[in-house]
Amino acid sequence: MSDLLYSAKNIYETASPELISQIHEYASGYKAFLNIAKTERECVEFAIEYAKSRDFREYVPGEKVQTGDRIYFNNRGKAIYLAVIGVKSLREGCNIAVAHVDAPRLDLKASPLYEDSEIAYLRTHYYGGVKKYQWHTIPLEIRGVIIRGDGEKIKVSIGSDPEDPRFVITDILPHLGEKQNAKTLRDAFPGEDLKILFGTCPDYSGDNEKDKVKLGVLKLLNEKYGITEADFLSAELEVVPAHEAHDVGLDRSLVGGYGHDDRACGYAALTALCGFEGIPERTAVAMLVDKEEIGSDGTAGMQSRAFERFMGSLSRSQGVSLDDCFAESFCVSNDVCNAFDPNFADVSDKQNNAALNHGVCFMKYTGSRGKSGSNDANAETIAVLRRVFADNGVAWQMGELGKVDAGGGGTVALYMANRNIETIDAGVPVLSMHAPWELISKADLYMTYKSIAAVFKDR
Ligand code: MN
Ligand code: MN
Repeated sequence: MSDLLYSAKNIYETASPELISQIHEYASGYKAFLNIAKTERECVEFAIEYAKSRDFREYVPGEKVQTGDRIYFNNRGKAIYLAVIGVKSLREGCNIAVAHVDAPRLDLKASPLYEDSEIAYLRTHYYGGVKKYQWHTIPLEIRGVIIRGDGEKIKVSIGSDPEDPRFVITDILPHLGEKQNAKTLRDAFPGEDLKILFGTCPDYSGDNEKDKVKLGVLKLLNEKYGITEADFLSAELEVVPAHEAHDVGLDRSLVGGYGHDDRACGYAALTALCGFEGIPERTAVAMLVDKEEIGSDGTAGMQSRAFERFMGSLSRSQGVSLDDCFAESFCVSNDVCNAFDPNFADVSDKQNNAALNHGVCFMKYTGSRGKSGSNDANAETIAVLRRVFADNGVAWQMGELGKVDAGGGGTVALYMANRNIETIDAGVPVLSMHAPWELISKADLYMTYKSIAAVFKDR
């Protein structure tokens, strides 16, 4: 009789000691990745190094490819498309895993630096969906690039080295927090107030009566990077949490870290493709893309035709039209979802919400207010995956993001499906999504990796 009932099982109910050690080992590599790669550019750099060490070579559109070729296309250092060319022609389609490697953060404004009351600050504009109060009084670091007026690109990373200074956004002391306490969260923490404390030591060597602290930090920047204040104008500097990824829980079952959304899936897609042994039947493609958190627009977002340029070039080299390739292709839009949180149970339908340690979570649809902005995968697509996962020992579950009308969210799935590619959402369940320190289960992360590998092998 129990065969008539369905419920996703906790992975640990049947996990062998061998599986459990694989789960922990995989998470170690992932934690190291998170600490190295805290911006989309750093994720792409990591992916290039990782792929090169596994026999991938850079692909220039227009080149011919052959079965077994392992290639990557670097889209402006902010997105990367990798492929292992399969046995079958692209006329039979390809299997795609796509994840995004941008994450919510604070970007420096174009002209960020100012001084107030003998303290130097940097003004920011937040990127993506952040709960602003979470960014006050936590250690921060600054990473990114400055392109100087002379065209030279300077990589900036202040705070990643243990000896480096850190930065912070201050908050009101509780003793004087009476007025702040009375406000709603929305009003109590205005975006304009997310100002980074950058320095306090005045420089008395100049002639200026004011802005001596500002001059002091500019001198330090000039010594280290050879830049002036004007060079902020052509820079992309991202303020990110300074803490490292770490095991969480006495049983070490979870990973706490910045940017699980969606670098957990990015790492899973990258390692599943690069770790593919032999040659797949259908060409396997993994993509790490930018700008998902602000709508997937721009040259490196998933709406960009850079993807068509890459896939079109591969298809043409086999005499196949891109439309025909897309029509037969399959895509897993690998993005995180929310894990059920008993502390905030009222926002979820527990029966249809991902649970920690129950495996990679597939979502037929995302969106909000009646599935708006969702791909809404076909039942046929899900049925195929049920077979593939059963054959490959993948623990998985189905979920949706919260109760009907509680809110919602989107992914890149619809942009893939709009290209006439059969697409479904799947990813790692996350607690405290978009917080500076999010949580995921190691077992779910490992199953996400296994699910992508299974799609590349058997779909
Ligand atoms: Mn995401
Ligand atoms: Mn997100």
